[in-house]
Amino acid sequence: MDGLDESLAVLRESFKRGKTRTAAWRKSQLNGILKLVGENEEKIFQALNEDIGKHPVEAYRDEGYIPLIFFPAKARVVPEPLGLVLIISSWNFPFSLSIDPLIGAIAAGNTAVLKPSESSPATSSLLAKLVPLYLDPEAIRVIEGGTSVSEVLLDKKWDKIFFTGSSRVGRIVMSAAAKHLTPVTLELGGKSPAIVDALSDSDLEVAVKRIVSGKWGSCNGQACIAVDYVLVEEKLAPLLIEKLKIRIRKFYGNNSQELKDISRVVNKHHFKRLSNLLKDPDVSSSVVFGGSQDEQRSFIEPTILLNPPLDAEIMTEEIFGPLLPIITVSNIQESIEFINARPKPLVLYAFTKDESFKGQIVTQTSSGCVTFNDTAVQFLCDSIPFGGVGESGLGRYHGKYSFDAFSHEKGVLHRTFYLELAPRHPPWSDFKMKF
Ligand code: NAD
Repeated sequence: MDGLDESLAVLRESFKRGKTRTAAWRKSQLNGILKLVGENEEKIFQALNEDIGKHPVEAYRDEGYIPLIFFPAKARVVPEPLGLVLIISSWNFPFSLSIDPLIGAIAAGNTAVLKPSESSPATSSLLAKLVPLYLDPEAIRVIEGGTSVSEVLLDKKWDKIFFTGSSRVGRIVMSAAAKHLTPVTLELGGKSPAIVDALSDSDLEVAVKRIVSGKWGSCNGQACIAVDYVLVEEKLAPLLIEKLKIRIRKFYGNNSQELKDISRVVNKHHFKRLSNLLKDPDVSSSVVFGGSQDEQRSFIEPTILLNPPLDAEIMTEEIFGPLLPIITVSNIQESIEFINARPKPLVLYAFTKDESFKGQIVTQTSSGCVTFNDTAVQFLCDSIPFGGVGESGLGRYHGKYSFDAFSHEKGVLHRTFYLELAPRHPPWSDFKMKF
């Protein structure tokens, strides 16, 4: 194992440089495999013979190519339901994040247990009441409860677990699933950035509207697809901040104590968590708009921060609330590096008209999805998959992808009894090698 870390560093660096992404590189390497096999056939046969006593003809048949002697045959893919699946959902879109995966599970032919979140008790009990009235209780059940109920459920054997929630609990779900080798889909969160490039005044106006509704317009920032922070060039930040302030007032009103059409923070625990983020003096001094809090009502007003310290919790943890840090870069290209230096986000938003920059964002960064010039709408587009990558999740769903998430794609090969060719069976000979 000497030099393992160095080897891994070389591989990581090659990937980072984009080396393995070009079609030319892929072709050259695949051709390399062809050449490796072609030029070393004898040695491979010899090694296989040494290891397991395989005759070269058998090795050629099984470890080489798919020979013509297996024809005629017909192959197809048959999706089959996985069995009994467990769906654990979160509180922030407590209805859709329960029903959407359930649709996939049912469409694919599974039986299901749904465990909604205890933090949205009204929706949880409504689902528990309605589901048995409308759906087959012999196949679909709702089980209500919090962590302790979840733990009991996770201890059982399932054929699939579909989890929506935090990365912290995602890890717990995955290790419970590992005990039974149960496949998982993990719909997690993370810090989803929005890059704002130089734009005309009218385009910036549209961008700002969409950022405001993508941040505060959906559960007051308590959405996995909410904009977590904005990256913008230093010289553009003052204008962007000014426009954000004006737009927030236009959408929600001028009186910060009585804002309209905006959700509260879900519970005291999350209120305290968010409030604590602002307690750090270096963070609170970066607040350029908002910041008022009402513990009684569990409400925090839309708050904008300019360049809070990057090592403060507000910039290392998912915010999941109404605080929006604006981070300045000297050149917008730097935003790519900024994003790549952090865990892979669930969504990457970018407001730009620069086609080559768009191309760079798609090919040089990794995220669950990328949305140009809007926020949140990708969630409603059923023709593209929704799901995270790396720490933002595992697997995907929506539309046809939901069906796939709850199916096993079984390969089925049909052969006839016709045409039984001798070369596939022993005794082996040099003549049979030719087939
Ligand atoms: P959470 O992880 O606290 O809870 C999610 C579910 O897990 C709940 O049903 C809860 O009862 C259960 N749970 C909590 N602790 C558990 C434990 N120790 N063991 C087993 N089960 C446990 O998440 P949340 O607060 O409901 O939701 C917020 C998080 O979810 C954010 O990180 C957000 O980004 C993410 N999220 C992701 C998506 C998505 O589609 N990717 C959607 C909504 C929310």
